[in-house]
Amino acid sequence: MAQAHYPMPAALKDEARLDAARYQEMYNQSVQDPESFWAEHGKRITWFTPYTEVKNTHFGKNDVQIEWFRDGTLNACYNCVDRHLAERADKTAIIWEGDDVDEQKHISYRELHEQVAKFANGLKKLGVKKGDRVAIYMPMVPEAAYAMLACARLGAIHSVIFAGFSPNAIADRVNDCGAKVVITANEGRRGGKGVALKTNVDKAVADNACPSVSSVVVFQHTETEVPWNSELDVWWHELIGNCDSDCPAEVMQAEDPLFILYTSGSTGTPKGVQHTTGGYMVYASMTHEYVFDLREDDVYWCAADVGWITGHSYIVYGPLANGATTLMFEGVPTYPDETRIAKIVDKHQVNILYTAPTAIRALMAKGDAAARGSSRESLRILGSVGEPINPEAWDWYYNCIGNGKCPIMDTFWQTETGGIMITPLPAVKDMKPGAAMMPFFGVQPALVDNEGNKLEGVAEGNLVIADSWPGQARTLWGDHERFVQTYFSTYEGYYFTGDGAKVDEDGDYMITGRVDDVLNVSGHRLGTAEIESALVAHEAVAEAAVVGFPHDIKGQGIYVYVTVVEGTEPTDELRKELIQWVRTDLSPIATPDHIQFSPGLPKTRSGKIMRRILRKIAANEHDSLGDTSTLADPSVVESLIENRLNK
Ligand code: ATP
Ligand code: MG
Repeated sequence: MAQAHYPMPAALKDEARLDAARYQEMYNQSVQDPESFWAEHGKRITWFTPYTEVKNTHFGKNDVQIEWFRDGTLNACYNCVDRHLAERADKTAIIWEGDDVDEQKHISYRELHEQVAKFANGLKKLGVKKGDRVAIYMPMVPEAAYAMLACARLGAIHSVIFAGFSPNAIADRVNDCGAKVVITANEGRRGGKGVALKTNVDKAVADNACPSVSSVVVFQHTETEVPWNSELDVWWHELIGNCDSDCPAEVMQAEDPLFILYTSGSTGTPKGVQHTTGGYMVYASMTHEYVFDLREDDVYWCAADVGWITGHSYIVYGPLANGATTLMFEGVPTYPDETRIAKIVDKHQVNILYTAPTAIRALMAKGDAAARGSSRESLRILGSVGEPINPEAWDWYYNCIGNGKCPIMDTFWQTETGGIMITPLPAVKDMKPGAAMMPFFGVQPALVDNEGNKLEGVAEGNLVIADSWPGQARTLWGDHERFVQTYFSTYEGYYFTGDGAKVDEDGDYMITGRVDDVLNVSGHRLGTAEIESALVAHEAVAEAAVVGFPHDIKGQGIYVYVTVVEGTEPTDELRKELIQWVRTDLSPIATPDHIQFSPGLPKTRSGKIMRRILRKIAANEHDSLGDTSTLADPSVVESLIENRLNK
């Protein structure tokens, strides 16, 4: 299929900080002389002691060394808060939009400083000090950011646990890192309903199941009463009641850990990814500024959750390090109805909107209704992250949300990469729907075949990164061996992403999905993402997931799960039509063997389709589904098993 090009809007070209020539110049410098490039750009962060060393890195099969700015000292919270007080004290740091349409708050940098310092002093009273671990299980309220920043201020390592996780998942994560304190709220609010956060924490720590925990801090977010355990529990407001708003920021080494964060579990058991302070801050803030072409007066909204890496790097650390105004939204895109996202954009005059394909597809399923009653004229730049965005969804996002004038930054990256790796950049190059395009500064992507041979020119293969970048994870908490094994042992000398990609004749990258998801049908390699894109392009299809299953003749057969759009009947007729559709749109080789209609698909809590579970069902191996702890709605799986077609 020929790839459509969308030009960068002319207005943007005149004002953007980059253009093609400037990007190329900076990129070349960043890979030809990373030492001097990062020596210069590392200065964007405020250091207590400047670094004299920049890069000590080595990717070996068994020995991996990753250190950046090693002898510099700094504090991440100081960079996000204190350093803005001189010039931006009255600027809004956080706009909070509640689940309820009538709830909102503006928090200035001055107020942010006060709240964070007070809470840090509160944590000190509970005995939290440098190097301790603190678990954060919070709704999307400003206090979640205060808690993260307060930990960073003290040099404590936070581990944010997504507020949708079960008591077992909380206990696993708390015990894995030996957290001393758990910070939660009495209740969260999502889609008009309460989320029993405190109750979940109670269940997690009951019967001394989390022996490391000595306190549970409870922020009172709603009026709902919760059971109280006076041995552990302490109210947030009581804890900070008589706390001073002066709390010096701890002096941290560049390589001191900043946080631990578990991956979403799409491919297996979640990994406790560990990031450090210096390189992460430099990389998160720099990517945030360049990818979104940030301007001083922008209202920037990343609609992710702080429970994911996107929330860490692009709701909290990146934007606040840049002194930006970052919007935090407590609710869901479809409450009270599908116009919510667009209405928030208008209400707060959002200039930059960064969200995920799962949200885009959910809104797209309602046709153009999502844009009803809003102008979205304030928008300048859009972003997407988390999964490949199929051209159909790209197009809808571009036209329906962006009024056909805002470029989409399709950012490819991972929990492990700390920040955006491959992405379009405003005004640098025309866009291609579904293509992540170009490496960010310092990133050296490459494609290798299954034997590890580097592929040149137009190619498709395994996506690896040839050299370190500052935002890279340093290890998996308590399991360095798994770190080396998972990322560095497959292809010698490279960091392996686990994803596949294509490079086209212009040298642009297109992510094809997890390499585990590539099918081999009668000797033909087929990307599941490509078949899914074809299906979603049909007007009756809201969402599709494609997996392979063992097939006697073809080696692998194609098993398709389809969710139809509202108001459409999932009939045999439609099934036949979809099969024909894929045959003509893509290729007869891609003919689905089975199409199972399903009202929902199994997703991680971050909204990604869990194909490994779908593979098991398609292969009739549903007795051994593997780790399902991060599944958003287990009942979806039961009904899929019951209605499976490959019995
Ligand atoms: P786990 O590693 O536990 O299986 P996960 O990989 O889903 O979980 P994340 O680190 O949140 O956890 O997700 C990173 C993955 O998301 C990438 O490896 C890639 O597969 C996918 N991804 C992210 N952004 C994009 C994008 N713009 N285009 C295509 N895929 C993307
Ligand atoms: Mg992963």
